[in-house]
Amino acid sequence: MNRYLMTPGPVPVSREVSLHETRALIGHRGRQFSDLFSGIEEKLSRLLQSGGKTVIFPASGTGSLESLAMNFTGPDTSVISVSCGVFGDRLREITALTGARMINVDVAPGDGVRPGVVAAAVKSNPDASVLLLTQNETSTGVFNRIDEIIGELPKEGRPLVLVDGVSSVGAMPCFPEKWGIDGLATASQKGLLSPPGLGLVWLSERGWETVSRRKCASYYFDLSLQKTYLYKDAPENPYTPPVSLYFALSAALDEITSDGWFDERARAARSLAAGIESLGFELLVRDEKFRSPGVTAFSHPSGETSAILKRLKEIGVEPAGGQGKFKDSLIRVSHYHDVRWPEISLALGSLYAALGDARKGAGDFMRRAFEAWEAK
Ligand SMILES: *Cc1c(COP(=O)(O)O)cnc(C)c1O
Repeated sequence: MNRYLMTPGPVPVSREVSLHETRALIGHRGRQFSDLFSGIEEKLSRLLQSGGKTVIFPASGTGSLESLAMNFTGPDTSVISVSCGVFGDRLREITALTGARMINVDVAPGDGVRPGVVAAAVKSNPDASVLLLTQNETSTGVFNRIDEIIGELPKEGRPLVLVDGVSSVGAMPCFPEKWGIDGLATASQKGLLSPPGLGLVWLSERGWETVSRRKCASYYFDLSLQKTYLYKDAPENPYTPPVSLYFALSAALDEITSDGWFDERARAARSLAAGIESLGFELLVRDEKFRSPGVTAFSHPSGETSAILKRLKEIGVEPAGGQGKFKDSLIRVSHYHDVRWPEISLALGSLYAALGDARKGAGDFMRRAFEAWEAK
């Protein structure tokens, strides 16, 4: 039986990307590897619309977040941590391990982070030198407007802005240089449409200056060391990189950089949301402005959500359940990847089949979804 992966990480990898992953290995100290690495750097610059190079760690997204915490924070740092879900909490926990003084700002799950709330926290904590934000909170399907949040911060003496972009980069606009992000962490297996295993970190000039002045308490995640290898004439990695994943990432980046890619993700999100509501489910994120273009989270008012999820898996469709306090009460469907009408109809048709007794509450869901798909 075919299995249709709809988890918000990993995402299904295209056949083309899989083929690149199986290319014959090359050594990682030589021209061939540095050309591959340089090519990836150019594609990432274009995707992020930002200068400077991106560090690539053999790690998952949590590793790239840990590298930000280890290089920017310590017992001498006060940190404002804004969280609206499981992943915001995780970055907070990692950062607290460095001994930093934490100032926590919590936003209710399903709600987006309002710029005024962050600006107020920054103004009332002038000693905070670091601000932690999550662009796309994958546990709830909330998409935060990082550009608007940074836009409302005081211009003078504002903290360094570190952003968890693990599930946003590739699936939605994320332009760190233009927006004023100082440290951005992401990973290969979500919006970057690659197999899991690479953690990526981009820093602003101010970010690089800051880490060069600090001693990093981690040997492996030391960003200053990475920089010396990254900026060689022929870039390399200080330690053995997973070369096959570099092949795959390079091919995947070619799939993302097409015109209109971000608009198509948002279009898929709107169409799915219309169909899901018409099937009788409730979307967790009530305010459309904060709905993620990459992942949609919903539950059934009958309280049968986990039974519906179980039936979906039995028929070969595999979205994710909830996390944290939503462990048994959410279904999450991803659309970071090239989800078009065939995939939307498959997801909605399968949800209909899995509804069981709740099917009688379903409306004209295909028509509603298709109208949203066709709408400009
Ligand atoms: C998936 C995810 C992470 C964790 O990434 P791993 O690759 O599983 O370590 C962190 N933050 C966000 C927003 C995520 O979606």
